[in-house]
Amino acid sequence: MRKMEADIIVVAAGPSGLAATVQASELGKKVLTFEKNSVCGGAANMGMGVFGLNSRIQRENGQSLDADEAFLKHMNFSHFLIDDTRLVYDFYRKSGSTIDWLQDMGVNFEYNTFTQYVPARARHIIQVELTIHHVLPDGGGRPGPRAASAMTRVLIERAKELGATIMTQTPVYDLIEEDGKIVGVLAKDKDGEEIEARAKAVIVATGGFGDNPEMIKEATGYEWGKDLFSFRIPGNVGDGIKMAWKHGAAKTRTMMELMYQIPDNLNHFVLEGAFRQPVLWVNKLGKRFFPEDCLGVTSYTGNAISMQPGHTCFTIMDSATLKYYKKHGVSNPGVHGADVFDHFDEAAEAAKAEGYSAYFEADTIEELCEKTGIDLEGFKETLEEYNADCELKYDSVFNKERDYMRPVVKGPFYAIQSFLGAYGTLGGIKINYKTEVLNEEFHKIPGLYAVGTDACNIYGDTYIFTMPANTMAFCINTGRIAAENASDYIDSLK
Ligand SMILES: Cc1cc2nc3c(=O)[nH]c(=O)nc-3n(C[C@H](O)[C@H](O)[C@H](O)COP(=O)(O)OP(=O)(O)OC[C@H]3O[C@@H](n4cnc5c(N)ncnc54)[C@H](O)[C@@H]3O)c2cc1C
Repeated sequence: MRKMEADIIVVAAGPSGLAATVQASELGKKVLTFEKNSVCGGAANMGMGVFGLNSRIQRENGQSLDADEAFLKHMNFSHFLIDDTRLVYDFYRKSGSTIDWLQDMGVNFEYNTFTQYVPARARHIIQVELTIHHVLPDGGGRPGPRAASAMTRVLIERAKELGATIMTQTPVYDLIEEDGKIVGVLAKDKDGEEIEARAKAVIVATGGFGDNPEMIKEATGYEWGKDLFSFRIPGNVGDGIKMAWKHGAAKTRTMMELMYQIPDNLNHFVLEGAFRQPVLWVNKLGKRFFPEDCLGVTSYTGNAISMQPGHTCFTIMDSATLKYYKKHGVSNPGVHGADVFDHFDEAAEAAKAEGYSAYFEADTIEELCEKTGIDLEGFKETLEEYNADCELKYDSVFNKERDYMRPVVKGPFYAIQSFLGAYGTLGGIKINYKTEVLNEEFHKIPGLYAVGTDACNIYGDTYIFTMPANTMAFCINTGRIAAENASDYIDSLK
């Protein structure tokens, strides 16, 4: 058994763990960070950007919200179903300075005014705010998926420069508890050697249980690969949550950071983007179920799909609509890019050659229903109503914007099947605004802190996509907050 010692141990090196590592090191603490994977960064390596309010970049370029307004919007959105409301206010007030902190460290951001499309009639209710600071990727190029891995690199470099020790391929499997206090962890390094590491405070940051289908089923009822095709970060199986629960932490709400996806979406990115348009969307019964021009708020679309039979739906275009999009480009670019229709044929051919199960082409409505399993009678009724509305350019069901009222009449017909997706899970460990872990009596467990998605219970029942890049910011800001409070706690022991 190898013995190690530090002031603060950080369990995991995703964005929350890395932020805690850097912040605690900056405060002069000796930090030891254990990461299960061979690389650090966790889900952040797949992400695009970080939420912030009143950052230096925003002050230079204009911003849409201040922290007070955002806090009140957040409370209205979440209906106060939050473990500690003060944490949200503190997080929002800190979020701008955290962007500055990252920038000063060497993370390059671009703050642009692109935002998800929301129809004019809905903007006062579901406006998507300009809160995201896109990370510029290493090696140049535009911000986009995976660009935030550049932030991981900078955080690791800064942590090492400050003298922190980061051990990869070294999963922590338990906490050490003495006299009701958490005083260290047990881990196993890449050669299988047991480690007993002692510290005055431990910060848990293991990123939830998005790679644990059993825990997901228990928490949500969804079955991965059947009605849920969420992102899975290898190793995010709920270790930190289970360890904290074992040592007395109160259980708090656990849920998916829900949105919608097609199966294996990263390999069918063009098709996914092409079908994320405000065309005709129906459920298995052939019925429309939401105003398609509101699909830009992906967490709401996910919720709407979660209420449909089989938690699934189909997006349908006829050949005239496909031709229109190929000529004019997308209505809703999103992260998939504005040029997806330039590559549509190629992507469709690849999907067919592979036998991809979620993409369909059919010459007739009957054939489409047979291939997709959509109820033919229900779909015919929908088409009668929808196509008549399209002729009038008036959506009598949902008042979708008239530009998007394109009929489905001319074969061949094209469809994609979407399911529930998620960025990962949210919540598990109850914390207060200092990120101290609380027991069932709401008393803190001395020495134990939890941050990031392991402890993220601030959204109520739905992820707040209307203030984008919120989770990554919650992770980084709670990492900093935990480091500051753990540092104070350690100083108070002297
Ligand atoms: C495709 C994708 C795109 C995204 N884009 C964005 C975005 O643009 N903006 C945004 O705000 N959010 C985004 N998110 C969400 C965001 O990335 C996550 O909320 C965030 O990374 C969670 O941070 P975390 O530190 O809590 O956990 P994670 O990033 O998941 O990191 C957890 C770490 O814990 C390690 N670990 C697990 N168990 C152990 C153990 N026992 N011992 C040691 N280490 C352990 C894991 O290996 C991992 O490195 C995206 C997510 C995905 C999947």
